[in-house]
Amino acid sequence: MKVCRSGGERMIDEFRLRILTESAKYDVSCSSSGSARSNTKNGLGNASFHGICHSFTPDGRCVSLLKILLTNDCVYHCRYCPNRAGEDVSRAIATPDEICELTVAFYKRNYIEGLFLSSAVYLTPDTTMDLLLLTVKKLRTEYAFNGYIHLKGIPHADPALVREAAKYADRMSYNVELPSEASLKLLAPQKTKESLLLPMRTLREETKANREDRSRRKARILPAGQTTQMIVGASPETDGQIMRLSEALYRKMGLKRVYYSAYLPVVRDSLLPDRGAGLLREHRLYQADWLLRFYGFTAEEIAPLDENLPEEYDPKCAWALRNPDFFPVEINRADLEALLRVPGIGNKGAYRILRARKYGNLSFEDLKKMRVVLKRAKHFITCCGKFYGAKDENQIKTLLALQDSGTEQLTFFGDAESGMSVLTGQL
Ligand code: SF4
Repeated sequence: MKVCRSGGERMIDEFRLRILTESAKYDVSCSSSGSARSNTKNGLGNASFHGICHSFTPDGRCVSLLKILLTNDCVYHCRYCPNRAGEDVSRAIATPDEICELTVAFYKRNYIEGLFLSSAVYLTPDTTMDLLLLTVKKLRTEYAFNGYIHLKGIPHADPALVREAAKYADRMSYNVELPSEASLKLLAPQKTKESLLLPMRTLREETKANREDRSRRKARILPAGQTTQMIVGASPETDGQIMRLSEALYRKMGLKRVYYSAYLPVVRDSLLPDRGAGLLREHRLYQADWLLRFYGFTAEEIAPLDENLPEEYDPKCAWALRNPDFFPVEINRADLEALLRVPGIGNKGAYRILRARKYGNLSFEDLKKMRVVLKRAKHFITCCGKFYGAKDENQIKTLLALQDSGTEQLTFFGDAESGMSVLTGQL
């Protein structure tokens, strides 16, 4: 196997750039979408191309990032990965200066606003982490780059290197990869639960101490926090188990986001399914994740331990259908927690209702103006005692499923916000 290295020039050549950006595309912990739409002849844009991805800053801005691996030459053998050791793929490695030059050049041309830097495990975890650290340190101190940097952590690397790297990055992420220790052992045997969770804990403690240390006016470390990614559908864990793991990661590790990546069979392996997990499952997990983070739901409420999320409707509708005794909720009296449980009332909508209610009772027309998705909400609410929803449970189920599949006709209660919910997380 030939590994392509730098020929001495400072700017990376196109061949290695292609290998290193293409190899990075399977990591979704930067917020890239899973779209498969590529450019057409004479068309504009390409949603499936590698190289540039998107992320969201703590203040909600969407930024474009150069997404690249330092190297795809790996000594580990994760069974689902096209870069695993022994796989017959082109290998390349970039130098820290090449990554820095490229980032700065792209930034100056306004192609990107930051860098998403990851790496395969090159020779040893410490060698790799050292190279990553050198790259981000150079970028900040020699190249004076103040743009956004998302850096992947390498499992089993020396914690001192990880702590040092955190000083230069805005965000770091350790991918938990698989939802259970047993699956990790089977499919990514060199990675252990401890090698992924311990650095997360270290980084959490570092950022906490940094935040509390006001005496020495230290620069903030990891201002955009930590994220992680797990592959869904490569192993037998249910959505119920996955949600419980995510809940624990948010609670114990203070993660900003958990990203879910539907398994794609990009390499052949006897221990892996032949078919991908499908984007609908990934989508439902993201919806459930919003319920965990912004709607006050627990993992236990979202999905029973041994079950997957239903495909027909979103997890908030599914919860509402399982809990008919909770409804209808009276819009003019319900507290915030109850409003957040109504399908079709997003968290923004719930706050709007609370504010508007101070000036008088609200009607269905008022709710419509507040962009509440009435075609869903109407089955679960009353306004001054009035109810306009379907009374029959089966009819509600059918209507909700139709709405979710996007095949229903527009109605009086139709609302642009329902179409936006996938983007905004308003459920
Ligand atoms: S560590 Fe595992 S997932 Fe990462 S590049 Fe190597 S084989 Fe792939």
